[in-house]
Amino acid sequence: MSDRPVVTRIAPSPTGAMHIGTARTALFNWLYARHTGGKFLLRIEDTDRERSTQAAVQVIFDGLAWLGLEADETPVFQAARADRHKLAADEMLARGSAYRDYMTPDELEVERALARAEGRVVRSPWRDASPNDAPDRPFVVRLKCPLEGETLIDDQVKGLVRFQNRDLDDLILLRTDGTPTYNLAVVVDDHEMGVTHVIRGDDHLNNAARQTLIYQGLGWTPPVWAHLPLIHGPDGTKLSKRHGAQAVSEFSDMGYLPEAMRNYLTKLGWGHGDDEIFSDRQAIDWFDIKDVVSAPARLDWAKLNHLNNHYLRLADPARLAKLVADVHKSRDWPLHDDHIAVLERVIPHVRDGAKTTLELADATVFALKRRPLELPEKARDLLSEETRGRLGRLREVLAAAPAWDVSALEALNRQFAESEGVGLGKIGPALRAALSGGSPAPDLAGALVALGKDESLGRLDDALSLGG
Ligand code: GLU
Repeated sequence: MSDRPVVTRIAPSPTGAMHIGTARTALFNWLYARHTGGKFLLRIEDTDRERSTQAAVQVIFDGLAWLGLEADETPVFQAARADRHKLAADEMLARGSAYRDYMTPDELEVERALARAEGRVVRSPWRDASPNDAPDRPFVVRLKCPLEGETLIDDQVKGLVRFQNRDLDDLILLRTDGTPTYNLAVVVDDHEMGVTHVIRGDDHLNNAARQTLIYQGLGWTPPVWAHLPLIHGPDGTKLSKRHGAQAVSEFSDMGYLPEAMRNYLTKLGWGHGDDEIFSDRQAIDWFDIKDVVSAPARLDWAKLNHLNNHYLRLADPARLAKLVADVHKSRDWPLHDDHIAVLERVIPHVRDGAKTTLELADATVFALKRRPLELPEKARDLLSEETRGRLGRLREVLAAAPAWDVSALEALNRQFAESEGVGLGKIGPALRAALSGGSPAPDLAGALVALGKDESLGRLDDALSLGG
């Protein structure tokens, strides 16, 4: 196996939202493929024709694209490969590793009850029947499981896992209508896609034993297995709605950046010393499937928020401006033609305190307001005649400011307060109210720079013109 290039895959069933656990599985497969210089493939397991929808396929494409985990080849659609699956079952029949089972539903019922009473798995009498005795009636094709011995799964995460063959039933490979079952389809597809490493959720660990027997029945080598523990909620129970979010799209809607999600999900069940923050390049260099921990990982919102704040502070303001504009649009905020330019200017001054793009949007509202701003009662109360006089004088000083940047304006505000013989506290709140209309805003100099000179002076003029 070691001389073959690594091929990993994600094989989601398109039946609804894309779960965050699927996203992490995709990420680990992607990281391992990138780490080894191999390939990362995508297979859509759409054999459940009733539950699989085109919209759900699109959800998977969108989720992977958003996370930046695009596959190296065009996706494989499992349902389109039913003929290949059937050929493999025929091959197993020819090799004697599968058999046609003609039990009627009633006979199966009887055998089931008997097996239950005897504490064993169902075994069909057709296991060892001669093909010459075959009746002319519907049949299923079953795997002919060995009756003795063990099937060993040398799992990269779980270690060596033993299954007693006598506990494994002769699972159905083809139904009476000739359609393949899940385990057969997975084995045939993984083999024909050249998959060397199957990295997936540990809810599939039992399937690994059954699938190993199918590999053996076809004379094929099983892949390397790695079964990942589930993601739990912060309280240690299975992740569910009440923990806040489960679907990739929910995290995106809540204002998390894909690079923060990648960093966070990489840390969820895998680690590199005490490193909390790392780039994709570092994750790829360091990631090894052997280092995945076998205990369930717990979602930790505080850590995710911390990481997202980190990446918000690093991101290109032009990119954030578009994301924040989308948030405002979703809230029906009346945006004007220049809103992107305004947001680009404001974002660097407000992002330090933001955990999500939603919070970033809240912090930019003051700048998107249109003149004249409506001043809330409290803001109006600040504008006493004395304060208005002072603000008027400050307005002239600001109009003559030689430079419009944070340090220059900080110095200017300070000098002005000194020249007036008052502390900044006597001017700050009123100026802030005039600039922000009572919405959250950055420090004075930051707000002035974020708004720009013309807008700042205009807002001041509006406040000064209010009768007092
Ligand atoms: N389609 C399966 C699922 O969505 C994954 C099967 C596999 O990874 O082998 O759980």
